[in-house]
Amino acid sequence: MSFEGRVRSFFQIARSVFFPKWDPCRRWTVVVGERQKSEGETGYCCSREKIVYISPQATGMTDVGLQAFLIHEICHDVAAAFHNRKWLRRMQRAAEKARGLGMESLASSIEDDAFSCVRAGCYLPLSACEVYEFVGEKAFANPDWTDERIIQDSAEYFGVRRASLVRRFPGLGEEIAEGRAERRRE
Ligand SMILES: [Zn+2]
Repeated sequence: MSFEGRVRSFFQIARSVFFPKWDPCRRWTVVVGERQKSEGETGYCCSREKIVYISPQATGMTDVGLQAFLIHEICHDVAAAFHNRKWLRRMQRAAEKARGLGMESLASSIEDDAFSCVRAGCYLPLSACEVYEFVGEKAFANPDWTDERIIQDSAEYFGVRRASLVRRFPGLGEEIAEGRAERRRE
């Protein structure tokens, strides 16, 4: 099966077996490709577009690795955009589910991934996925804030300097505009 075919079929399985209540209308899709803003990331979960992006770099992943990875990305929409406790709990539940179904290697792969993300904690390099999601949510939640205030606030949250955030994540302005536009549509 092609990489794209594997990704699609694992995505269907992940959705129906591991997250049966998450996307009942089947609005979410999976795309093999990189979202420009998150270049270099292996995966990106975009709640706004309802798309999970899997980079073509992931072609070499084993079936189990790919399954665990799709579950990881979906957990970002179900639980939290960050590798925080809430996200970890959802990953643990998925691992328990896999174990209950006799999928022991998938269960341990999910656990290994989850714990390595959490252990890395704040030393984990900032991921575009987390930064853009956070900035977009800030813009959505605070329609009266200026771009500058949103960026400053986000830089403080991530513990980096404003200039470094702006340099490393060139799509901030676009993400803020999208967050605002989404708010106007509400
Ligand atoms: Zn993640």
